[in-house]
Amino acid sequence: MHRILRAAAAAAAGIATAPARRHRAPSWGAATARWFSVEREAMSYDVVIVGAGPAGLAAAIRLKQLCRAADTDLSVCVLEKGAEVGAHILSGNVFEPRALDELIPKWRQEDAPIRVPVSSDKFWMLTKNKAWTLPSPFDNKGNYVISLSQLVRWMSVKAEELGVEVYPGFAASEILYDENQIVAGVATNDVGIAKDGSKRETFQPGVELRGRIILLAEGCRGSLSEKIITNHKLRESGQGQHQTYALGIKEVWEIEEGKHKPGSVVHTVGWPLDMKTYGGSFLYHLDDRQLAIGLVVALNYRNPFLSPYDEFQKFKQHPAIRTLLEGGTVLQYGARTLNEGGFQSIPNPVFPGGAIIGCSAGFLNVPKIKGSHTAMKSGMLAAEATFKALVEGSSIDLYWENLKKSWIWDELYRARNYRPVCDYYYY
Ligand SMILES: Cc1cc2nc3c(=O)[nH]c(=O)nc-3n(C[C@H](O)[C@H](O)[C@H](O)COP(=O)(O)OP(=O)(O)OC[C@H]3O[C@@H](n4cnc5c(N)ncnc54)[C@H](O)[C@@H]3O)c2cc1C
Repeated sequence: MHRILRAAAAAAAGIATAPARRHRAPSWGAATARWFSVEREAMSYDVVIVGAGPAGLAAAIRLKQLCRAADTDLSVCVLEKGAEVGAHILSGNVFEPRALDELIPKWRQEDAPIRVPVSSDKFWMLTKNKAWTLPSPFDNKGNYVISLSQLVRWMSVKAEELGVEVYPGFAASEILYDENQIVAGVATNDVGIAKDGSKRETFQPGVELRGRIILLAEGCRGSLSEKIITNHKLRESGQGQHQTYALGIKEVWEIEEGKHKPGSVVHTVGWPLDMKTYGGSFLYHLDDRQLAIGLVVALNYRNPFLSPYDEFQKFKQHPAIRTLLEGGTVLQYGARTLNEGGFQSIPNPVFPGGAIIGCSAGFLNVPKIKGSHTAMKSGMLAAEATFKALVEGSSIDLYWENLKKSWIWDELYRARNYRPVCDYYYY
């Protein structure tokens, strides 16, 4: 780990280190007032990627692959706010391997944690006490039930093998601009601050990570990405409308051996949600007796008293679900937002100095409930444009152009009316 980030990590863990060399940051940019009072260390890279999810890591890997092929080198770092890569990713995912096939064609021979092919795909309509089987609108043939956390950990190792510096435990919290108002880096939070706001002995100011190109891969509703989208009017320039969201609550259970069917996929609609609320549940059987179970509720629900968490608790009491969980144990739980705006809400993902990739830009395919493959593909496309910009001097706008020619565009275009029609039907 780089000396500067090691000191910051030690401070975050409450360990005092010898004072690091400091320099005063120049007083350009939006946050001038703060910069006069805070001294921060700075590190420079060719490319700084924020977020070690499928999008960020696919971009990092692609960049280094291109460097190898051209016998050149670009320095690439990835910042991840989770204590380790994968810590903030909600596990249990039906994975479409299309983008990974393009990124690492030999992943099947390289011990990737993708081992459970989808073995059955069911769709149920629930009433309070019954489950009616309907024809499944999903086509999960050729897909896998995986732990996305495990996949990103594996991708992070692949990235590091290629020379990418991956730094878990650091949240980028500020965008840095140069004197021409071009994004020139990000800064991490100050650490070692007491509850009353005073500086502890272990205080370390945030670290600046400066890059020639910054790729934002923070996932759905990323904080820096949203600021950039607003400040640079990227929805307006991309002719995208506002983004809409759903909340996904997920638990990973270890269930009894006899009830576990590796690769089994079930989606449900109906109870406990009413006919005015868009959403549904999923049950994915992984390996090792694990089951990912969750409920997704669109956040435009009409009933102000509806609590997605309580609806999920009710859902688990349904006779068809309860019997599956009885005798099992919860291993993990979490909640995360999903983009639902689809094709109509895609912003122009390029800003001066960088680009937005993955769910931060909103590439989730709503009818498929899948965004890992599009996140990875967008990271690869951005990496290709970044490489050309840095090595050949072209414009990073190429990412936006190539995105519109890619299968992501085609896929999201074909799915564009699904969610709006559902709103019409549900209300
Ligand atoms: C309940 C639920 C179920 C889903 N099921 C499926 C499925 O079955 N199949 C499928 O393909 N997709 C599924 N998805 C969608 C899928 O998870 C996303 O499309 C995909 O993870 C997006 O990848 P990403 O890299 O853009 O973002 P993420 O996977 O969200 O990764 C972003 C990373 O960036 C980090 N980060 C964020 N902000 C910062 C910051 N400021 N500084 C440093 N690090 C930061 C986060 O900690 C995280 O690790 C599901 C989503 C949810 C919520």
